[in-house]
Amino acid sequence: LQEQLQKSDTLSVVGELAAGIAHEIRNPMTALKGFIQLLEMSIKEDHSMYFKVIMSELRRIESTITEFLILAKPQAIQFKNNDMRKVMQETLELLNGQALMNNVQFNFKYADELPDVFCEPNQMKQVFINIIKNAIEVMPEGGFVTITIDNQPNEYIHIVIEDEGEGIPEKKIKRLGEPFYTTKERGTGLGLMVSYKIIKEHKGKVEVESEVGVGTKFHIYIPIKRN
Ligand code: ADP
Ligand code: MG
Repeated sequence: LQEQLQKSDTLSVVGELAAGIAHEIRNPMTALKGFIQLLEMSIKEDHSMYFKVIMSELRRIESTITEFLILAKPQAIQFKNNDMRKVMQETLELLNGQALMNNVQFNFKYADELPDVFCEPNQMKQVFINIIKNAIEVMPEGGFVTITIDNQPNEYIHIVIEDEGEGIPEKKIKRLGEPFYTTKERGTGLGLMVSYKIIKEHKGKVEVESEVGVGTKFHIYIPIKRN
């Protein structure tokens, strides 16, 4: 329990700080990228390697920021009743390009008559983006990401995001959500940290079910009613 408490303290401090900073970085980043792209044309042949490195590092900064707040504006957080199916559909549209490039297909299934859920839709999108991005990244040869939404009437909505990737060894599952925990060469280890924090703020929970060599399921439970 002690460990759990400490982990969530670190989560909220790091999360709030980082979300604020990420906001300040995003706008100058866009300008930088634009102007550097314009410079490419006048760059000498023997310097083109520098250009590649600059662009790849800029993309890295960009993906770190995306993990924090592609949509969630700290000043515009608004909890209200939302149709989770619509929130998910909009998220999948955002990720369509990335899925296509990686040979990944989305398979989206949902129960009839899903109740509205009291939540912050942009933050929920942030959670879905981070988890689905991981699912795409874990299938270098492509495959299916299956998303299912059902509900326990009057209690919670249950979202499952399933991939056919490498899976996660049992003892590593508890490390998920730790700030900066990553097993990727160019990972940030921030996506799940932010996602777990948002789910906690919704009084929800996450369960990870995984089998090495078969795939991983992220179960997200969000209470339906405000309390
Ligand atoms: P990053 O993606 O930058 O590494 P995340 O916080 O998104 O950071 O994920 C942390 C780590 O959790 C990943 O590096 C990976 O080891 C593990 N992980 C997350 N999602 C999956 C998944 N769907 N399949 C396998 N491992 C995963
Ligand atoms: Mg990630």
